[in-house]
Amino acid sequence: MPVIFFNKMTNISQIVRDNIRLLKPYSCARDEFKGEASVFLDANENPMNSPYNRYPDPLQTALKTKIAALKHVRPSQIMLGVGSDEPIDLIIRIFCEPKTDNIVAMDPTYGMYRVCADVNNVEYRGVLLGAGFTLDAGKMLAATDEHTKVIFICSPNNPTGNLMNVSEITKILDTFGGITVIDEAYIDFSSEPSWLEKLDRYPQLIVLQTFSKAWGMAAARCGMAFASEEIIGYLNKIKYPYNINILTQRFVSEQIDLEERKNGWVGMLLQQRGFLTEQLAALPVVEKIYPSDANFLLVKVADANAVYNTLVNRGIIVRNRNNVSLCLGCLRITVGTEEENELLINALKQI
Ligand SMILES: *Cc1c(COP(=O)(O)O)cnc(C)c1O
Repeated sequence: MPVIFFNKMTNISQIVRDNIRLLKPYSCARDEFKGEASVFLDANENPMNSPYNRYPDPLQTALKTKIAALKHVRPSQIMLGVGSDEPIDLIIRIFCEPKTDNIVAMDPTYGMYRVCADVNNVEYRGVLLGAGFTLDAGKMLAATDEHTKVIFICSPNNPTGNLMNVSEITKILDTFGGITVIDEAYIDFSSEPSWLEKLDRYPQLIVLQTFSKAWGMAAARCGMAFASEEIIGYLNKIKYPYNINILTQRFVSEQIDLEERKNGWVGMLLQQRGFLTEQLAALPVVEKIYPSDANFLLVKVADANAVYNTLVNRGIIVRNRNNVSLCLGCLRITVGTEEENELLINALKQI
């Protein structure tokens, strides 16, 4: 039986670490000034080399206005990070007391939750997924105790590729008294609606998305955390003041105008995912292809290490997941261009 020690919160601040709740954040020079001005002698900037001489907007107001319209949320429900990896770390630091608190996540899942927990000296509890890599809310809740502050759910999950069941996630949201994070890095490739629609219903829900995958901007390092205003306030309070530089703010803003191009890429990649699935299924070396709601396929092969090395020798790099829980014999293969996928298939045909 899951033991739930704290009831559904009415107040986020009750589970925030004391030092974070009491923290007086760094005050930027430009925070203190509101209004019109043309002479800025307040931040020790060089007056030359405009516009790069000026510190960027710490709250990225212009970019968030665009993202809010794109995602149908309020700008105040958005925190932007240096990739979604930044909010993963900040969430753990806001809620988890080192050496005392713990987080619960699925196993297998994205590796950064464990790395960030380890860096912060916070216990990490992995809960094995069920048959077909399914989420069992009861098992997740059973792994929690009064020191569990955050549950991480990745949907579609990396490296398994599948979406987690809506009713299991709902059980967790309706029962667990801490923070629930749903990492939607691959949501653009999935046919299911985003959990963003449920933000107003669950004040303890944080949804993570990123510009690194469908939008093709991994190099720009821009990730999004969406949550209640109260949680966003804490994320903004502890992030580095100028975490998103002006080049990224402007570039991402321009790229959002090219949403149709992004949708075209997603369409192409989904078509290629189908092509790859068919071609892989016909190869003797392939034992199983797991269903995917993402831009990659988890593929079980006869000898993962050997296949991996053969591909490396042909200049093709896939992700060897042989040593990951429940993924024995598996490679994670990102869907590439038609040409890249054909090169992969041809290389595998020769094994
Ligand atoms: C790729 C990925 C991310 C993205 O990280 P960024 O820091 O935004 O590039 C986040 N979560 C999962 C599950 C991923 O696979």
